[in-house]
Amino acid sequence: MSAVVRETPMREAVGSIEVRDPRTGDWLYTVPSATQEQITEAFETAHTASRAVRAMSVRQRLDELVKIKRYVLENKEHIIDRVVSETGKSRMDALMSEIFAVLDVIDYYDKNAERVLADQVVKTPVLLFGKKSRIYYEPMGTVLMITPWNYPFHLTIIPFICAFTAGNAVITKPSEYTPLRGLLEDIVDKSGFVRNGLQVVYGGKDTGRALVDQRPDKIIFTGSTRAGKQVMAQAAQYLIPVELELGGKDPMIVFDDVNIDRAVNGAIWGGMTNSGQTCTAVERVFVQERVYDQFLNALKQKIERVSTPSKRQAASDCGDLDMGCMTTDFQVDIVDKQVRDAEAKGARIVSGGHRVGQGLEYQPTVIADVDDSMAVAREETFGPVLAIRKFSDEAEAVRLANDSPYGLNSSVWTDDLARGERVARRLETGNCSINNVLATQANAALPFGGVKESGFGRYKGAHGLHSFSNVKSVMIDKNSPMIELNWYPYTKEKYQLFSKLIDTAFSGRPLATLKALLIGVKLQGLGKKQRL
Ligand code: NAD
Repeated sequence: MSAVVRETPMREAVGSIEVRDPRTGDWLYTVPSATQEQITEAFETAHTASRAVRAMSVRQRLDELVKIKRYVLENKEHIIDRVVSETGKSRMDALMSEIFAVLDVIDYYDKNAERVLADQVVKTPVLLFGKKSRIYYEPMGTVLMITPWNYPFHLTIIPFICAFTAGNAVITKPSEYTPLRGLLEDIVDKSGFVRNGLQVVYGGKDTGRALVDQRPDKIIFTGSTRAGKQVMAQAAQYLIPVELELGGKDPMIVFDDVNIDRAVNGAIWGGMTNSGQTCTAVERVFVQERVYDQFLNALKQKIERVSTPSKRQAASDCGDLDMGCMTTDFQVDIVDKQVRDAEAKGARIVSGGHRVGQGLEYQPTVIADVDDSMAVAREETFGPVLAIRKFSDEAEAVRLANDSPYGLNSSVWTDDLARGERVARRLETGNCSINNVLATQANAALPFGGVKESGFGRYKGAHGLHSFSNVKSVMIDKNSPMIELNWYPYTKEKYQLFSKLIDTAFSGRPLATLKALLIGVKLQGLGKKQRL
């Protein structure tokens, strides 16, 4: 497989986007950006579809998703071919993250969504005697998704599954670098999925902005922190709720009581999977001083065994390539700039550290003795680079790990599970694995999302359905001739009784509730006499 220089960089051209194979630079196709008329029409269609989706029971919606599951299962090699041709990732990366994860999430909701979205009975306080409290989880309407290029299938389908299961119609705008033209449309049409439940609108940033201006009922944005802030600022004009799934600079803390072999293998996979273009990739590794050299030596030996396109003899990837090439030329430049900056500031390049030829392959890279002056320690790298640093004790490890504007994912490695949980609680991230990497994403029941500049909101799990719902509180009372005690008219006597009721109910003394109820009975008597 030879990597060649692109003739023209992939970018949004006027009115169209050009898509190339990152492995070769070959032109794949050109797709026109949506016109304003098409955008308006997509929203009109979605509003109509949202009423149909809303009218379906949760079970009926799940049955629709099971059609997609069957289609994906039967066509997984074709989907992998498409994803690989636009991202350059290895087939195994595509199989596990783009196919397995999607099927697993549908399966989880198939078994659990009806319970999660069922009306919830909530306890009603005794002072509200005779009433019932409920929570209804209702659809929001039309959800807009804007997605990035690193997992073009997974990061579209999984939030869509959440939004649709909760009863919404969805419009998605894929990245201009990996639009997977026609793939989602085919899945929807050929699986027999409910018409217009999912629509795809192609284009770049300007298209994204035009879609936000259509005032969807909710936006889920996955991408860079910079663009996430722009989307949120634009959405604020219309008070559209947004969920932001943004960048990361994820720490891995390795204590000196771990099995070094497992931790090193974990660091390599966690840092290199998808060529490091994973928002939850391990980027910063903090290793306790007693095992620092041992860890680095093992890391150097093992990382050199990771198979990459340029190291292989075989022309094609039959699922046996560890790491593919990167997806975009600008990201390769960012990675190389950070590596050169670290080198110039005195870090040690333990392994890799270079672009391969003129293409989009970057060597699996380990940089040791990293410090705060280096961009690789602070900025998102989003490439196959592990930045290693020493720490002395638990407090220092937590301080270093939390010293980042990002807060997406993290991991703690120790034989002492009490310490593992203690540290996990102190890490300012939305996800954390103990003695594992990127493991929370493997469980469809666990919600996913970040804190700090990694964004907010959650999808997957029960939270992932509630976050696409209007969580409606309902109080049910009986039709009766009575009026409520706190309604008009306000009188001095009523004021004094309520004041006494408050003092009694919240006194914490024995039988407080019973005594408060007796005052309530007096208030009721008053209510019968005093009314407007
Ligand atoms: P990006 O922010 O450049 O683009 C993401 C999407 O937003 C694209 O579809 C793009 O066209 C659109 N867009 C950009 N600016 C916009 C604007 N002002 N208004 C509307 N739409 C706009 O990100 P990218 O380069 O495609 O993806 C890489 C980034 O995504 C990394 O920072 C990575 O960490 C992050 N990411 C986060 C997660 C997560 O779940 N937290 C997952 C994957 C990737």
